[in-house]
Amino acid sequence: MRPGITIIGSGFAGLGMAIKLKKAGYHDFVILEKAGSLGGTWRDNTYPGCACDVPSHMYSFSFALNPGWSRMFSPQTEIWDYLRACATTYGLTPHFRFGREVTGLEYDEAGHWRVSTTDGETFTTNAVVSGVGALHVPSFPEIPGRESFRGPSFHSAEWDHSVDLTGKRVAVIGTGASAVQFVPRIAERVSRLHLFQRTPPWVQNRPDFPISPRMRAALTVPGAARALRNAIYWALETRALGFAVDPRLMKAHEKMARRHLADQVPDRALRAKLTPDYTIGCKRILLSNDYYPALNRDNVEVITEAAAEIRERSIVDSTGREIEVDAIVYGTGFKVVDALNDQWIVGRGGQKIQDAWRNGVEAYYGITTAGFPNLFFLLGPNTGLGHNSVVFMIESQVRYVIDCLRLLSKTGARALDVRPEAQRAFNARLQSRLHDLVWNEGGCTSWYLDEHGVNRTIWPGFTFEYWARTRRVRPEAYELIR
Ligand code: NAP
Repeated sequence: MRPGITIIGSGFAGLGMAIKLKKAGYHDFVILEKAGSLGGTWRDNTYPGCACDVPSHMYSFSFALNPGWSRMFSPQTEIWDYLRACATTYGLTPHFRFGREVTGLEYDEAGHWRVSTTDGETFTTNAVVSGVGALHVPSFPEIPGRESFRGPSFHSAEWDHSVDLTGKRVAVIGTGASAVQFVPRIAERVSRLHLFQRTPPWVQNRPDFPISPRMRAALTVPGAARALRNAIYWALETRALGFAVDPRLMKAHEKMARRHLADQVPDRALRAKLTPDYTIGCKRILLSNDYYPALNRDNVEVITEAAAEIRERSIVDSTGREIEVDAIVYGTGFKVVDALNDQWIVGRGGQKIQDAWRNGVEAYYGITTAGFPNLFFLLGPNTGLGHNSVVFMIESQVRYVIDCLRLLSKTGARALDVRPEAQRAFNARLQSRLHDLVWNEGGCTSWYLDEHGVNRTIWPGFTFEYWARTRRVRPEAYELIR
């Protein structure tokens, strides 16, 4: 195997890249996927209630509109089906190499990448596009005794469906985007649910509803699905005002969230526990209509004391209270920065990516990083969003990568490497913008920030600005290697 282009990962990013490569006339590529099937996060996350939290007509490819979504916020199985259907429709089947996890990428001075995979094979390729995403390495809390627990325990991203939680005493640790989706589903089945909350999330109403067959038929009328998507895009984009311009503009959002809490939680003491003390938007704003009602149930207890120790059949909280449980579910999120930084990637002059990123993970528009020619990241550093669909960002990046490949063909260069000064200037501007915004200034800590408190994950502006800035490659930002 000696493919011209190697794509790593088959989630939204990898598939989007592959489809657009084909459309642009590049057929000499493979998609390496560590698992046995495609779909990325939408294959892996199968916890009860898993669904997208961005409206489906926007959380999908702009070139593969789906008038058939069953709800405004579609469930995981439907999104996974959509991705598989895209792969078939666009003829990607021959390009997949399943069960091939990349263990290393090494650049040689002849302008090739040497790719090693878990099955021991090594091959060379001209360009690598990493679509591995940031939210796939489960993070477990470091609670003493965690390994000693005798009952079933698992992470939300590795839900163990062989465990029947019906009638069991269950502890859930974490109250993030995943937990607010699965807690309501299990609360009605378990005998007791002890929910360990470290920081309460801001929760807003979820404008979800089934899309009737009539409306779905209407959306097949030419232009209708596009018009709906555009309307959703601009509605979501207005939310960037508070994020990207001035945190004070988040007040209206906070008011909505407070009203939602007041409407749904009559008990004062519980309401106090669930009221955040940081600016809304500092952590991801969660959307749910059934999370708070689940917490009102008699069999559910919200525990704000930390889990201090785990024993064979119980959890001890920081006051010393011991709570007997039959099972533990960790809704404790992902190791986000590590997902990029743990990779074995060696670039020009034998430089490891960890050394290039010793002061923090960064790239030029989140896509290219100096010293690593022809290596492209999709959803790389500082291209995540708090307000709109990341599929939009992926599509902008895919177009940019293709523009880079065209620049190579046009100039006859073997590889392109972003100039360190271009990358530095870009990141200095980016960080100075982020400095006063809600993720840094909102009074919370979150996975958006690295261990030094620097935001390495979020794009601090409107998505149309990112789109406009990545529409064309600026050749002067790159060294062309001949
Ligand atoms: P998360 O948002 O990072 O939430 C993790 C939760 O676990 C937080 O409540 C956190 O508390 C808590 N936690 C972490 N470590 C802990 C510890 N040592 N002790 C106690 N509590 C601890 O993770 P997630 O819910 O899996 O979601 C991650 C991301 O995935 C989301 O932000 C979102 O981008 C994506 N997601 C999307 C959807 C969707 O609908 N599209 C659904 C699920 C997830 P603190 O807040 O105090 O840190």
